[in-house]
Amino acid sequence: MGFNIAIDGPAGAGKSTIAKRAARELGFVYVDTGALYRAMALYCLKNQIDGRDEAAVAKACENMEITLTHQKGEQQILLNGENVTGSIRTEEVGNMASLISAYPAVRAKLLELQRSVARKEDVIMDGRDIGTCILPDAPLKIYLTASVETRGQRRYRELTQKGVSCDLEEICRDIRERDARDMNREIAPLKQAEDAVLVDSSEMTIEEVTERIVSCARERLAGTAG
Ligand code: C5P
Repeated sequence: MGFNIAIDGPAGAGKSTIAKRAARELGFVYVDTGALYRAMALYCLKNQIDGRDEAAVAKACENMEITLTHQKGEQQILLNGENVTGSIRTEEVGNMASLISAYPAVRAKLLELQRSVARKEDVIMDGRDIGTCILPDAPLKIYLTASVETRGQRRYRELTQKGVSCDLEEICRDIRERDARDMNREIAPLKQAEDAVLVDSSEMTIEEVTERIVSCARERLAGTAG
């Protein structure tokens, strides 16, 4: 079993940016589990499967093969052999992922895949249920959050910089809806694990949050070595 770090938290809290940086500093492999749900969501969208139809989504799961690899340190996601890493970052895919990730068949499909990577490597894995369900014995768990307003503004800036026109109010509404879905679903809801360190990034820079996580990791690593 590798030394694993679980980072959970709501959309837009900065998990992926920070986990990527911390992984680089610590020499760990970064695993973005949201990308796995997004790949499944992309399959549903491409095949016109209604995300609200649980039975249809569960059936579709049987036809999806999801593979996770790393190329030059960057995570790559293959859906039935096709690299979809570049096409899963849209709002449409994100919303579909949030909808279908509530279904047991979808979560069951990804459970072993996530655990098997963590068995082989030292990973920093981010998601919603990593500390609570996927890696309950991870020696370090972080719950990374930020206010809806901060997360909305970050997303707004990101999209505007890419030249995508958007509306801040709408983004904040989407974030609230997605939070509610992720936190209130029956299986594997988003919540802070009892033994997780809470980090609120609302008033912190990326560097500060990364530093906080890296220093927690070094403390725990020193503890395990001794
Ligand atoms: O993190 P990201 O926004 O890419 O995740 C997309 C959606 O996938 C989330 O809104 C959440 O519903 C779902 N997800 C999940 N469990 C994870 C990672 C993501 O349910 N471990």
